Amino acid sequence: MKKTLLMIISIVLLMSGCGKRTDKQVKIADAVDDNYRNYYEVFVYSFYDSDGDGIGDLKGVEEKLDHIAELGCNGIWLMPIMPSTTYHKYDVCDYMAIDEQYGTMEDYEALINAAHDKHIRVIIDMVINHTSSRHPWFMEATEYLKGLDEGQEPDISECPYVDYYNISKEKKDNTWYQIADTDYYYEGSFWSQMPDLNLDNEALMKELEDVASFWISKGTDGFRMDAPLHYEEGDTAFNTRVLNRLYNYCTGLDPDFYMVSEVWASEQTIEAYYASDTPSMFDFGFAQAEGDIIKAARGRESSDKFVDNMIKNENARKAVNPECINAPFITNHDMPRVSNALNGKVRDMKMASAILLSMTGSPYIYYGEELGMSSKGTKDENKRLPMLWSYEDTAGMCRGPADADEDVEQRCEPADIQYDDEGSLYNYYKKGLMLRNSYPEIARGDSVYEEELNAYNEAATVISRTWNDESIYIIYNLTDAEGESIAFKEKVSVVATMSPDGDEAVASDTDGGMTVMIPGKSIVYIKPLSE
Ligand code: CA
Repeated sequence: MKKTLLMIISIVLLMSGCGKRTDKQVKIADAVDDNYRNYYEVFVYSFYDSDGDGIGDLKGVEEKLDHIAELGCNGIWLMPIMPSTTYHKYDVCDYMAIDEQYGTMEDYEALINAAHDKHIRVIIDMVINHTSSRHPWFMEATEYLKGLDEGQEPDISECPYVDYYNISKEKKDNTWYQIADTDYYYEGSFWSQMPDLNLDNEALMKELEDVASFWISKGTDGFRMDAPLHYEEGDTAFNTRVLNRLYNYCTGLDPDFYMVSEVWASEQTIEAYYASDTPSMFDFGFAQAEGDIIKAARGRESSDKFVDNMIKNENARKAVNPECINAPFITNHDMPRVSNALNGKVRDMKMASAILLSMTGSPYIYYGEELGMSSKGTKDENKRLPMLWSYEDTAGMCRGPADADEDVEQRCEPADIQYDDEGSLYNYYKKGLMLRNSYPEIARGDSVYEEELNAYNEAATVISRTWNDESIYIIYNLTDAEGESIAFKEKVSVVATMSPDGDEAVASDTDGGMTVMIPGKSIVYIKPLSE
């Protein structure tokens, strides 16, 4: 079908350092067409506006596909695009249509085709924990209940939708709301206008399979599952059964179908969800201001500790699901942006991106993160501000959520300036993503702690990853410590040095092997030279 093998191509990997530029030819290995991707999370509302109404739309995303492709991303996660009553659209009114603000189904199909032409896969947010209170299912259910006579019990054969939701005569806790003019209550665990679906209902599950089939027929490559923890609060067995059922249904239609789930919980719970048929969970433990990535970027977690945690998680997840694909990220639309967590320090943001892009699996980058955009406080609207394309050319700039504060300062340069600035955060992300695209073993190999190479290191920690007979060493030096050198018993070459200061690792010959000097605060990629 849509999946074509990418060609073997050569690219020029820009290696910059100490003010001077050297170009180095790097051969991209056979680009692999599996479910490992570099994802770009798009909040359509605030991304790019194609028709001048101030609201981002699907045509706008299509117009800006080159921004995403040139950055080095080959997957897009579109936050909810279905008709909804809110700006964020996490309350769905119709599961088989496009919100009018975002365009038409033709726009969606055109976007999918254009993305596939650029070898970019598109996954969409699938919100099935709840619907909008304006969804016809809920409106029919509540109308039916209102029409019942005194003492008359609801009859599911008359109105099946009553059982699509969690409805009861008992107000079970303060997330249950009364249905006006009735004795009944419904569950709305997120918001009164988001009634929770009863995913234990077979007819509803069949409808959701039809929904999945519909989007797959439009060329959709996967789903980002919203809030599975809440399908049945805290019931991992039930919730993973729901995920498995939909996932197996979808892979039955498209063997390459991908699914990633938002299990915003402890590592232990995330691992329990990995013990299902579905491949990916977001790596919440490494994300956010207190997670391992940000801590390590600030120099508050040692290289050894970071590597230990990474390998421990990889091993535990692989043990329960050998096919798992980690989904690391730094922050998303529900969290203050990376720039806020790191006080706007570009050096630390560069380090955070280098750490993210060194991890196994499919990393997720939240739009504008590659520019260093800011959020403000904890208000959701302030985490979803307009993409900063340009100060000069305001075409396509979005007005952003109505309730966002107007005084949020963006301390970073816009995209059009960062494109041409070799030292920009954008170009740093680009270099890290290019490495992942050039060396598939970075994403796909298991991290192996190199005992022998680590025997004498103070600050740096060496791991290797091997996949398809290709190996790469990754050396983490997460502190400012300089003067670390790693002695290899074989001939190696430095592929790239991810150093926010623009320093370069230097390899020199020794008797029978090589020594590599590692700059302070850097991640260095090294390949063994073939005999
Ligand atoms: Ca628009």
